[in-house]
Amino acid sequence: MVQKKMSTHGAVNIPVQMRRSMGLQPKDVIELEEKDGALILRPREIRCAFCGTDEDVLKLKGKGICVSCLAKAQERKGEGNED
Ligand SMILES: [Zn+2]
Repeated sequence: MVQKKMSTHGAVNIPVQMRRSMGLQPKDVIELEEKDGALILRPREIRCAFCGTDEDVLKLKGKGICVSCLAKAQERKGEGNED
């Protein structure tokens, strides 16, 4: 858990580790939702956690990955393991 102080304008900075793990980049649009006394903040569009693109991004284990990075990852996985 992270504690953050809100600015006089209501702005809150998102820690860099969280931005990275969510694939958030400057100027990205995020959605805010109030639910059961909590604020839920989620990226409107998921980005690839590896190259940062927002095109052809799939969700994999809660993270975004684009089709080309997925192909690269599968290529690497397949090395020395051909059948
Ligand atoms: Zn990618």
